[in-house]
Amino acid sequence: MNKILENHFRIPAGMVEIKGPQSFTAESGFFRFGPLTHCYGRRWTECAKKSELSHDSASSVRSKGGVCFLPFDLQEIVDGLRYERYISGEANQRVGSLARAVYYAIRPLLPVGLRRYAQRRALRGWNHPGFPVWPVDRTVDLLLEQVLLLAMEARGLQEIPFIWFWPDGSTGCITMTHDVETKAGLRFCEELMQMNERYRVPASFQLIPGARYCATLDDVAGIRGRGFEVNVHDWKHDGAMFSSRQAFLEASARVQGCVEEWNVKGFRSGALYRNPDWISEMKIAYDMSVPTSGRLEAQPGGCCSLFPWFFATPSDTAHDRNAGSVLEIPVTMTQDYSLFHVLQEYSLSTWEAELAEVLNGNGLASFIVHPDYIRGNREQRLYLSLLEQISRLRSDHKVWVAAPAEIHQWWSLRAGMTLVRMGDGWCVEGEGSERASIAWARRSEEGLYFKVDQVVSAEGELYSES
Ligand SMILES: [Zn+2]
Repeated sequence: MNKILENHFRIPAGMVEIKGPQSFTAESGFFRFGPLTHCYGRRWTECAKKSELSHDSASSVRSKGGVCFLPFDLQEIVDGLRYERYISGEANQRVGSLARAVYYAIRPLLPVGLRRYAQRRALRGWNHPGFPVWPVDRTVDLLLEQVLLLAMEARGLQEIPFIWFWPDGSTGCITMTHDVETKAGLRFCEELMQMNERYRVPASFQLIPGARYCATLDDVAGIRGRGFEVNVHDWKHDGAMFSSRQAFLEASARVQGCVEEWNVKGFRSGALYRNPDWISEMKIAYDMSVPTSGRLEAQPGGCCSLFPWFFATPSDTAHDRNAGSVLEIPVTMTQDYSLFHVLQEYSLSTWEAELAEVLNGNGLASFIVHPDYIRGNREQRLYLSLLEQISRLRSDHKVWVAAPAEIHQWWSLRAGMTLVRMGDGWCVEGEGSERASIAWARRSEEGLYFKVDQVVSAEGELYSES
């Protein structure tokens, strides 16, 4: 079970040890772990006797001989969130009151602007009680941090080194992606590429091969020739690809053909319709179909994480997920479509509030902006100010702005790196380690915080600690 901590943080193997219980409840359910985290899955039978949601399962954690004993299987709980196994009508309603409780618990920590948005949304009625929590749900990340903290306590460690999440000591990451929905959108790509070039923002364009404008190799070459990335966007974008096993097998074989013909690596489904278990079977390097908090999406749910993560391969039983299986690069930001047509908003407020949350968690901010929806003057102006903001975050706050393929490459390299002792200190070994930084997870009165070695951010350390 240590593997999940070691894979996420890239801490030295064996430095902490966690174990799950011997006996589990028969049923999965929602439960609380720590003041801010709610989870879904099976629990230790003893701890589950106190079944009310207000009971904090963290009080059942024990430590003995340097080992931290958890009242659940950490990998199972994290998978329950990442693979959206918590989704089912009845279960989703039951957690409503808990999600609300969690929201009110963290409310004092939210910036005023964000709070106002939460309130306004609630008044409009779309923010119905449920899970994940709006606007950013980082339950998986918080859970992993909390367990690392408990495991360090069990070993009596004040600090532990790990390989920092992003290359060159970057404080967080931003990626821009464009899904091309129509012929008109395809025609607008030229202008969109010019806008991105003006601010030196790399981006990927997802093209539909099997319907609508039926993207050709020429379309692919035109975009790639300008230095932008291309990925496959569904097969026909008709909402059918994940509707049945048969439909999925047929469409994914077609997508596979395109991945090879176009020589691309990534995929995103139409309208983020998805089945995480099936995505893990696709022969692609990375997927971008799972939202972090999909409250405004056609298919609700979300993986509750601000970091990329590897799917398990079908034969994986050892929890040793690593480079080689499909990487999920989750959609963490509100889509332009939802911004304009659901929230009816033409300002940067929501995006700025989300960016602040995501980058404070040192996470990935991944945008979907459609060429189809930003052709109007008002929308173009808004997009240009977003690009300006991204460019400022890169220069002033040392945020890494990268295309999805670069993120995939980095995350795969990082998964292959190891921290090894060298004299009194540590060094990172493995391909790509010259871009890696050593970071420290340290215990404090308030919990866990991160410190990156030898990183000087231009504007103090606003985004370098959490
Ligand atoms: Zn689409």
